[in-house]
Amino acid sequence: MDFDYDLFVIGGGSGGVRAARVAAAAGARVALAEESRMGGTCVIRGCVPKKLMVFASSYREGFADARAYGWDVADGSFDWARFRTHLHKELDRLESVYRELLSGSGVATFDQRAMLDDPHTVRLADGSTHSAKHILIATGGRPERPGMTNDHLGIVSDDIFDLEELPRRMLIVGGGYIACEFACIMNGLGVEVTQYYRGAQILRGFDGEARGLISDMMEEKGVNLHLGTNIVDMAPESARHVGVPDGGNASDAAMGAPTEVKSPASEAARGGPVWVKASNGQEGVYDAVLFATGRRPNTDGMGLEKAGVEVGRRGQVVVDEYSQTSVPSIYAIGDVTNRVNLTPVAIREGMAFVETVFNGNPTPVDHDLIPSAVFTQPEFGTVGLSEEEAREQEPVDIYCTSFRPMQSAFAGRQDRVLMKLVVAKESQKVLGCHIVAPQAGEMIQLAGIAVKMGATKQDFDRTVAVHPTMSEELVTMKTPVRSA
Ligand code: NDP
Repeated sequence: MDFDYDLFVIGGGSGGVRAARVAAAAGARVALAEESRMGGTCVIRGCVPKKLMVFASSYREGFADARAYGWDVADGSFDWARFRTHLHKELDRLESVYRELLSGSGVATFDQRAMLDDPHTVRLADGSTHSAKHILIATGGRPERPGMTNDHLGIVSDDIFDLEELPRRMLIVGGGYIACEFACIMNGLGVEVTQYYRGAQILRGFDGEARGLISDMMEEKGVNLHLGTNIVDMAPESARHVGVPDGGNASDAAMGAPTEVKSPASEAARGGPVWVKASNGQEGVYDAVLFATGRRPNTDGMGLEKAGVEVGRRGQVVVDEYSQTSVPSIYAIGDVTNRVNLTPVAIREGMAFVETVFNGNPTPVDHDLIPSAVFTQPEFGTVGLSEEEAREQEPVDIYCTSFRPMQSAFAGRQDRVLMKLVVAKESQKVLGCHIVAPQAGEMIQLAGIAVKMGATKQDFDRTVAVHPTMSEELVTMKTPVRSA
């Protein structure tokens, strides 16, 4: 049978664009449809603008440090409008780079929503249909509100980059990557930040000691962090004054089913202050409430059922180790499969898909020992097992040190960093490496190579220290602080 294309990719994020380009380079006739902007979450409303905001927010401490180092600098004020204009110019530039990469590779692009008609047919929003031998779903995910009364008054991470002005007081709900990163960013930009996390400690699932230090440091730097706390009630501050709660009986605001986020610019991004009551009895008024309460795969209304593609309980496309769905001609990669929701993983999955389908070399995706970073202040870089996970698996030796690093200590700051190795007692293999420190993301990329190669504690010890650095501690820790 003749098809219009060898491959039709739905979704122009990091994973979809990479798969499309690499497949085209392998000689395939490729098309790609994207309903929003080319580049997807990472480039347009995630990693890239977030990291630029991390940089912007780090200057406040930098000014104070510079004075301690002998520079005559005054505290400047932050101009959000100026930064935002520059930020959007940069995002426009990056989007055009993505478009050029696609057209340069000979990929046909459609700026439209696409859905499945059958295992080999894609229907576009304009009604046209296109047949393809293979279809790749790479539609990513989207933020999800908690599903409580009036939660439309809150914003989500997509909205941050379009805020008209910086809030003076901000409440952030959640304790995951996004909540903690934005709590630090906003605090650094001078916003009065309160953070509610419903659990006992932020960053659930990561190493306990690292989580403890990050939460201590966040509080020390000014984030008003409340653990074991959630919103029980919220209403527009204006409605409260006239006694009309918006959206029904606000006291019924128990957490319900998560609410879908429809438009990127939510109501609250433009609305006034929001009154909030917390489970600890505290009441407050905030100029913005950010719900960083998780993300959901983008699979609604895509015709997956019609095409016979199996969808899981969280709305994710179910795939095997080759990213193949229950329909042999349809594959899926990235956040829409809800495996490991990180940009470089989606890119790897896209490359492995092309290798499998177009280069005749079946390549499963290796999801083991993926290094990652949380861009809190200080940063957190991590690879492998946490102490808690490793202890469940086998006896371990823990090597850990926490200290005040030279650069900030000289400036009179109390910041501490943490270097930690989780080592298997018997094999002496390093099972996990956890770093809380400025630039920990850069460090863990390199430590990740050693851990992925199966390095032992003795391999670390054989490596000569680079002095004076923070990370030299990773190769100079002689005695375990404990065994478990
Ligand atoms: P996460 O799943 O990491 O965190 C969600 C947070 O919201 C958790 O603390 C969760 O609590 C809390 N939560 C969930 N539901 C509710 C509720 N109803 N009420 C109150 N709190 C709630 O999601 P994020 O949105 O932060 O990030 C999504 C994913 O994006 C990450 O897992 C990561 O894969 C990726 N990402 C990666 C980044 C990086 O690499 N630096 C940066 C940003 C995102 P609990 O712990 O109790 O479940």
